[in-house]
Amino acid sequence: SSMDRIFSRVFPSAGRVIASDTSMKPIRATLFPGDGIGPEIAESVKQVFSSAEVPIEWEEHFVGDKVDPRTESFLTWESLESVRRNRVGLKGPMATPIGKGHRSLNLTLRKELGLYANVRPCYSLSGYKTRYDNVNLVTIRENTEGEYSGLEHQVVRGVVESLKIITRQASLRVAEYAFHYAKTNGRERVSAIHKANIMRKTDGLFLKCCREVAEKYPEITYEEVIIDNCCMMLTKNPSLFDVLVMPNLYGDIISDLCAGLIGGLGLTPSCNIGEGGIALAEAVHGSAPDIAGKNLANPTALLLSSVMMLRHLGLNDKADRIHNAVLETIAEGKYRTGDLGGSASTTDFTKAICDHL
Ligand code: NAD
Repeated sequence: SSMDRIFSRVFPSAGRVIASDTSMKPIRATLFPGDGIGPEIAESVKQVFSSAEVPIEWEEHFVGDKVDPRTESFLTWESLESVRRNRVGLKGPMATPIGKGHRSLNLTLRKELGLYANVRPCYSLSGYKTRYDNVNLVTIRENTEGEYSGLEHQVVRGVVESLKIITRQASLRVAEYAFHYAKTNGRERVSAIHKANIMRKTDGLFLKCCREVAEKYPEITYEEVIIDNCCMMLTKNPSLFDVLVMPNLYGDIISDLCAGLIGGLGLTPSCNIGEGGIALAEAVHGSAPDIAGKNLANPTALLLSSVMMLRHLGLNDKADRIHNAVLETIAEGKYRTGDLGGSASTTDFTKAICDHL
């Protein structure tokens, strides 16, 4: 079907087969259940993996309650080492206190593991109707710098300053990833999203790097779109876009906008790509404190993130099976979580997915 074609473009094989689905030796992967709804949706992934007999052995690490001086955050050094060793993992959302406290756990992870690109496929789900039925795009977010550099201070009383850092190295790296992704995944166009008319130096350098990389990929159409115009175009006609690459903060905002196009944050997966081929998959959404612990969360985003992780490992049969079971369950409509207008609990929905495997 046309949706199958879309899925094979969205989640193609990474081409790096390190295990076949029939291999007996399990692959170790790190799991951070995370905060808020994290443990509930992580449990859902564990159950689905177990029902689908996925040969993954989870190495589970919880975010601690004490600050580890080596990471300056609640994330322990051992947790980081686990990802470095396994090179692949799945993480639940981690809460960040607003305006106070220690370094954000997510920032610590990104910095320590060199997770330089965040890949967020966003596509209309068959069987779940929204205003659009033709969304099929991928946002690629620079993940290590920009406004997220953590360089903020008070200049004098009543005046604060925040530094936006853009480097040639990080911009080239994420641009190269975006074009390579487009080329290897049958995508035709890369749009660089920016505000270089105002942020002349920073976004200007980002664009310059994108142009440099674009020249190496003549088969991929390259365009530049100013972020405000991009938002307007996305809400008017999302099919205008294919692969979008952008600096950190823009990527954060645009990918939530894209999630809204297809039914909300409960549905959108992502994968962080790091140095040396590390892949740490995670849902786009946060810890959803308003529904945490109530068995209401939609585990779809984390499940589809785990599917991205399986594809990265070359476990494509298992990935297809889980992917299809999730989509069929949603399409059937009998068990849907509250965010999709249903009344199923997280556990009921998970059980329904296992029944569809
Ligand atoms: P959020 O994504 O946690 O929640 C936004 C809204 O979407 C809430 O109404 C929530 O109930 C709903 N929602 C999110 N995921 C859902 C799911 N799976 N099923 C059903 N409904 C879902 O955003 P927020 O409230 O702005 O942030 C809460 C916390 O999460 C903050 O501490 C923030 O820093 C953190 N956060 C972490 C990450 C991450 O770990 N990658 C990402 C974003 C936010």
